[in-house]
Amino acid sequence: MFEATSPFELDLESVTTGPKPTTSLLRRQSLLASPDYQLKTLASLDLSHTPQQGHFADRLTDHGWPSLQPAQLEIFQINVGKLCNMTCRHCHVDAGPDRREVMDRNTIEACLAALDQTTAHTVDITGGAPELNPHFRYLVDQCVARGKHVIDRCNLTVLLLPPLEDLPGWLAERGVEVVCSLPHYRKLNTDNQRGDGTFEKSIEALRRLNAAGYGQGNPDRQLTLMSNPVGAFLASGQAKMEQEWKAGLLKNHDIRFDRLITLNNMPISRFLEWLEASGNLQRYMEVLVNAFNPATVAGLMCRNTLSVSWDGRLFDCDFNQMLDLEIQLLTGQRPHIRDFDPELLTQRQIVTDRHCFGCTAGAGSSCGGAIEQ
Ligand code: SF4
Ligand code: SF4
Repeated sequence: MFEATSPFELDLESVTTGPKPTTSLLRRQSLLASPDYQLKTLASLDLSHTPQQGHFADRLTDHGWPSLQPAQLEIFQINVGKLCNMTCRHCHVDAGPDRREVMDRNTIEACLAALDQTTAHTVDITGGAPELNPHFRYLVDQCVARGKHVIDRCNLTVLLLPPLEDLPGWLAERGVEVVCSLPHYRKLNTDNQRGDGTFEKSIEALRRLNAAGYGQGNPDRQLTLMSNPVGAFLASGQAKMEQEWKAGLLKNHDIRFDRLITLNNMPISRFLEWLEASGNLQRYMEVLVNAFNPATVAGLMCRNTLSVSWDGRLFDCDFNQMLDLEIQLLTGQRPHIRDFDPELLTQRQIVTDRHCFGCTAGAGSSCGGAIEQ
């Protein structure tokens, strides 16, 4: 049984449980482990030569959005913790095997009680590697029982861990959509970002998902791949890339999937570290600011999503969560999932800062992929 073979008893530090091209910022005691330091780093960049001097709120005002407010809540996103069997270079969570922030059962119960008060049709479960949370299966079952569409944001390699080998079939039985991160359909680009051996493990995990019925066009076995650029450039051409990836994975590995979504890398956490270390930070921010696309604003994910952290705090999105930019109610309070009040939340203003240019650049970027199709 899962509880008896708790993932915490696995040696997640070992490379055999998942590739580890780096370690967490927290473990290295990097200054960038501090969200405040990340925000200050972005604020200190000289963007005076870009439109509205690189101030996101002014850019929105410029285009008829004097404030950013939520629309109808559709997606209830639960980040069940920072624990992960991998330590990818671009990780915006600073996740890894050393992270012990994991949502407990009481907070999961509070999430479910809150979910029952919302109009959300989808529960998006993320991490870290969400499957490593010992209450993951309970949470999925409870959401499925409530008739919700459930998304598991999966790093693929986690499915090869012994306590989780039955997960593809288990998720398939419940109709859970699996959204899998894979930087590229070729080995080199994938292993560069996520560590040696990632590609082969990912292909094996995709085979197991295909064998469980995923990726064959069945809406109850939806297999979505999610790709971030491997470098300091924007995601682009999602539809064209999907065709290319489908043909490439089928021809070379006999793998099928349903759709591809592409995301911009956000200039935060370990990707921010990489941008600084590689001398790309200033240029990347200029690219993001100059590629601001006003047509993406209405569809920003912070407008239809609520993000809950492992400890039950509430955020406008997973990126704000990693920067500790909590939701602020008009009363000035920072609400907790225990005190969930959907009415008060609809009246809030979404908290934005410079990192938000990552969501509005080019075709736009969200947990659902490009905003402008
Ligand atoms: S990007 Fe995903 S798989 Fe990689 S360390 Fe972060 S949470 Fe884990
Ligand atoms: S990071 Fe993106 S989703 Fe989050 S608040 Fe900013 S614009 Fe919205």
